[in-house]
Amino acid sequence: MAVRQAVFLVGGKGTRLGALTATTPKPLLPIAPDMLVLDLLIENAARHGFTDIVLLAGHLGDRVELLYHGRRIRGATIRVVREPEPAGTGGALRHAAELLDPWFLLANGDSWFDINLCAFAVAPPRNGLARIALRRIDDCARYGSVELHGKRITAFVEKKATAAGPGLINGGIYLLNRAVLDHVPGPCSIERDVFPALVRRGGVEGQVFDNYFLDIGLPETLAQGRREFPALLARPAAFLDRDGVLNIDRGYTYRPEQLYWTEDAREAVLALNEAGYLVFVVTNQAGVAHGFYHEADVHAFHARMQAELADIGAHVDAFYHCPFHPDATVRRYRHPSHPDRKPNPGMLLKARREWRVSDRGSFLIGDRESDIEAAIRAGIPGLRYEGGSLLATVRQALAAVRPAPSVPPPAPILLDTPAMQAG
Ligand SMILES: [Mg+2]
Repeated sequence: MAVRQAVFLVGGKGTRLGALTATTPKPLLPIAPDMLVLDLLIENAARHGFTDIVLLAGHLGDRVELLYHGRRIRGATIRVVREPEPAGTGGALRHAAELLDPWFLLANGDSWFDINLCAFAVAPPRNGLARIALRRIDDCARYGSVELHGKRITAFVEKKATAAGPGLINGGIYLLNRAVLDHVPGPCSIERDVFPALVRRGGVEGQVFDNYFLDIGLPETLAQGRREFPALLARPAAFLDRDGVLNIDRGYTYRPEQLYWTEDAREAVLALNEAGYLVFVVTNQAGVAHGFYHEADVHAFHARMQAELADIGAHVDAFYHCPFHPDATVRRYRHPSHPDRKPNPGMLLKARREWRVSDRGSFLIGDRESDIEAAIRAGIPGLRYEGGSLLATVRQALAAVRPAPSVPPPAPILLDTPAMQAG
């Protein structure tokens, strides 16, 4: 099942933030010097392969529309739907009914839950219409909690009835079937009205994640986000050579039907996704320079790879290829030493410019000396893949380079911390 639509709830009034949201909708608050909350959410959905982004706007929706409607971000197109009058999250969803895919991702526009969205949406719930991403926390007392038996959510417990102590909370990311709209009678809350009703019918699955989670709806958590996000947003990157590392190299491989993964290659990419890495393919494609095939063929091959990765909930964030060669027969691809052609590090440097990459923890895996050389020139370690399980090689690499985290990754949700000065 390929879910390609991500819908964000960005219509809330943000009353808990007081004056901050009087003129700015919560999702439009800056979270880093050059990034709004909503930028972060959209970019993240786009890199996971969600190409159709729908923003359900309400409060100050004109601001959201002005900034985002019709834009393309990392290959995703963005539409803004403004509800005519406040009708709760259920009403907002209902208002957008005609735009909704049979299965879609729905997420809060004012919280950040750093999970692998591909894996979360890879298969529909076995029974029912909804899956909710849950976060394990040490003390549920300030939230309502969620009761889970196996994969099935059995109850939502109101905040006032929730006992202090560890438990599960709603992480604000949902995989939904459009038929949930049959349970949205009119203005209502998806979280407080629709999900509990579905749960009573036994139709809601829960999936627990321990990844970073922060609801930025309070002044102190917004300040916390502003302190922690700059470091969290720069992810380490895994640069993977393609032929001979991800797929078996048959010499100028380019037809999608020639794609044969090396041992555990897709699982290796999944492991990197789950570890919070950006995954980039960096591949010399001299076959284009020699006229054996076209760049469009390279793109088609990569699309096949991405589709087969998606089948197991994995994804590559970006593919970089170099079609140039010193002895090219196709003139426009002739270049004595193109900066992108490994051992030159151009593709790695380009990825670094186009994404927020932390060099700490980054590495390359290649099967040739020219791969390793490119890594060294880019200032990161290069590991030689010698065959066998690529997953094992990736695990070795992760163990060798994993940096000590600069921010404790299991979400510290410090609601009791006094508000800190932002910036
Ligand atoms: Mg190779």
